Amino acid sequence: MKTSITFYGGVSEIGGNKIIVKDKDTKILLDFGMSFNVSKMYFDEFLQPRELSGLNDLIELGLLPNLKGVYRQDYLKHAGKATEEREIDALFISHAHADHANYIHYLREDIPIICTKETAVILRALEDTQARNAQYCTMFPKFEFYTNTKGKLSKLKKNCKEAESRMKKRTYIVLDSEKSVKIKDIELKLVRVDHSLCGAAGCILKTSKGNIAYTGDFRFHGRNSKLTERFVEVCKDENIKYLISEGTRISETNPNTEEEIEKQASELIKKTKGLVVVSIPVRDVDRITSFLGAAKENNRIFTISMKQAYLLRLLEEEHVNAPRINDSNIRIYIPLKDWGLLNRKDLDSELIASEYDMWERDFLTHKNIVTAEEIRKNHSKYIFQCNLFEFTQLLDVQPDSTGCYIRSSTEPFDPEMELDEARILNWLKHFGLGKINQMHAGGHAPGSEIKRLIETINPEVLIPIHTVKPRLFKKNVTVRKIVYPKLGKEVSI
Ligand SMILES: [Zn+2]
Ligand SMILES: [Zn+2]
Repeated sequence: MKTSITFYGGVSEIGGNKIIVKDKDTKILLDFGMSFNVSKMYFDEFLQPRELSGLNDLIELGLLPNLKGVYRQDYLKHAGKATEEREIDALFISHAHADHANYIHYLREDIPIICTKETAVILRALEDTQARNAQYCTMFPKFEFYTNTKGKLSKLKKNCKEAESRMKKRTYIVLDSEKSVKIKDIELKLVRVDHSLCGAAGCILKTSKGNIAYTGDFRFHGRNSKLTERFVEVCKDENIKYLISEGTRISETNPNTEEEIEKQASELIKKTKGLVVVSIPVRDVDRITSFLGAAKENNRIFTISMKQAYLLRLLEEEHVNAPRINDSNIRIYIPLKDWGLLNRKDLDSELIASEYDMWERDFLTHKNIVTAEEIRKNHSKYIFQCNLFEFTQLLDVQPDSTGCYIRSSTEPFDPEMELDEARILNWLKHFGLGKINQMHAGGHAPGSEIKRLIETINPEVLIPIHTVKPRLFKKNVTVRKIVYPKLGKEVSI
C-alpha cells in the first residue's frame, strides 16, 4: 500500500489545517481546525450552521471534508447514515487555536488525541467555559432519546442524569517534547515549538517511505524561542524527506519580540496617570506574563478575566510555568452579569451566585478578586484588561482622559476588523482615552526565519501550507523541490 499526505484545509489559506498522513495500514490526522475563510464565506455572528443538522450543513458547504470513519456516530445516525468503522488511528493536535483544533467536537470519540500537556489543559478549559460545540475531552451523545421517570420518551440533554451515564471520554496521549508514540506503522515524535499559545508543537512522522515533519504554527521571537531552535535541530538530525511548513508571515520582516512588548507597555504605563485599558488575546499566557511584568514594574495590578483565571488555575494544577492567580499583582475581575446583583449586600450569596455560570461561581468567593466599583475609585492602581466584546465594562469602570488604551493584539487586516477598529475609536473618544496604542508580537515567524528553518532542515520536498502566499516560498527559499498541495488531492510519497 502506498504512502501519502492529503490536505483538507490550510491550502492557500491561513489555518483550517486538516491533514491525513497514510502509511501502509495506518492513518494519522494532523490537526482538525476550522477554516475561518470558508466559514466566513457562508456564516457570520448571526448566521450560524444549524445544530439540528449535525454534520450535514458543514459537509455540504465544505467546512468539514466528506470522509468515512472519522465522524461521531450519533451525528451520522441523526443524518440517516449507516454505522462506520473507525478509519483514523490517531489525531495529532499541534496547538489549541481554533484553526487547528475547533472541529475535534465532530470527531469520533475513539480516535486518540496526541498533544502536549498544555494543549490538553487549554482544550479542557475551552470545553468547560465555552457554551457549545466544544466537546474536546468528553462526548455527550446528541440526538438521542431516553425514557423519563414518567415513562415518556424525552430528548437526552447534556445536563440530565441519563446523559452522564452515556457520556464518553476522549483518550488523550500527552507527550513531552521529543518523546514518541507508535501508532501501528507510524512512529510519531512530538517536538515543541514557540508560538502565541503555550503548548504548541510540531511533529515528525516516521513512515516506511521516510520521515515527514510538520511544523504546526511557529515563531522565534516569543519567550520560548529556544523550543523552535531545538525543533530545527531535531529535524536536521532526523533526515526529513517531506517538510510541511506554515508560512503565515512569509512576506513580512522583523517582528517585535515578546520582551519588547513588555518594555513598550511598561514605558507607556509609567507615563500614564489614570486607568490603563488593554486588550490582549484571551489565552496568550506569554502576553499575560508580559503585562503582569509591566504591572509589577509600575506597582500596578493587572486584572484577568474569569476565563483566564480558569485556565491559569488548570495550568497551575498541571505544574505548568505560568502566572498564578494568587499573584499579588493580579486580580480576577468579576463583571456584573444578568440583573447586576453582584454588589447587593441585602441579598443572599446563593441568589447572587445564580447569576453566574457554574464554572464561574468558585471565583466569586476567591480572595484575589476585584469589581468595577473598586477600579472606578482607583484608576491609577490598575491595568484593566478589556477586549472589544467586553467594552460595556468600560461603562462601569469609567476611564477618563488621564488614562490610555493599549491594543496588544493583531492590527485589522480585513473590512470586518476595520469596522471593529472604528467602533473601538468611538469608545475611546467617548471616554477621552485618546488613540489606540498598538503593541503586539504575533505568533508567526517572518520570511527570513521561515527560510532559515527550511534551509537548515533541508528536506527533499517542501510543502507550504497555512499561508495565502505559497508561491513566495519558491522565490524566497532555497530548497530542492516544492510541492503545492491541492485541496483533497493526495500527495504520493
Ligand atoms: Zn494557525
Ligand atoms: Zn496558532
